[in-house]
Amino acid sequence: MPSGQLIVLTGPSGVGKGTLVRSLLARHNDLYLSISATTRSPRRGEIDGKDYYFVTRSQFKKMIDQGELLEWAEYANNCYGTPRFDIEKKLNSGIKVLLEIDVVGARNIKQTFPDALRIFVLPPSLEELERRLRGRDKDSQEAITCRLEQAKKELIASREFNHIIVNDNLSQSLQKFENIIFAIELN
Ligand code: ADP
Ligand code: 5GP
Repeated sequence: MPSGQLIVLTGPSGVGKGTLVRSLLARHNDLYLSISATTRSPRRGEIDGKDYYFVTRSQFKKMIDQGELLEWAEYANNCYGTPRFDIEKKLNSGIKVLLEIDVVGARNIKQTFPDALRIFVLPPSLEELERRLRGRDKDSQEAITCRLEQAKKELIASREFNHIIVNDNLSQSLQKFENIIFAIELN
């Protein structure tokens, strides 16, 4: 059985990672998106077990202690982690597995899965990132400020990644994302 490919997509909150991932999943049903665990409260419309596994801090700590997380990180005062259980199974079945995680988590994955394809999504500018965070209208003012501060630190990390997508025009970014994953060489 061929081994699948682990694909890590990272970049600042609000840059459009979720939008790109959802669009790509709609085109490729052979891709598997890992569902993370988080201590963050659900946003309007988010569903437990679909968008995230929403857990308490003590449940999250238990997951760490029992070795259930492939990686985890603290982001904007909440914990986020990748459950190990079905990822290894999917990879062993030859499936492409997508992780949408923060920069710290992406760095940790580089240690455990050096062959993972690692993609960084950049905003066209910090002003546009702020517009997207505000336009999404799902985070408090405090959460937006925290995410923008975090973004300034994260952007510097982009050069550590195999591939960079500047998410300006959405359809061009989606095309580039698809090309990277399915290894179609253009330009
Ligand atoms: P992330 O998952 O990185 O936090 P989202 O996918 O939730 O970001 O996108 C944040 C906001 O930006 C959403 O309102 C989304 O519709 C919008 N958005 C995403 N990509 C683009 C783009 N290329 N141009 C304009 N708006 C975008
Ligand atoms: P949000 O609260 O906006 O959903 O996510 C905040 C940040 O946490 C985003 O950068 C997102 O990619 C990241 N994130 C989501 N799940 C995980 C995970 O399992 N591990 C890590 N390290 N980061 C995650």
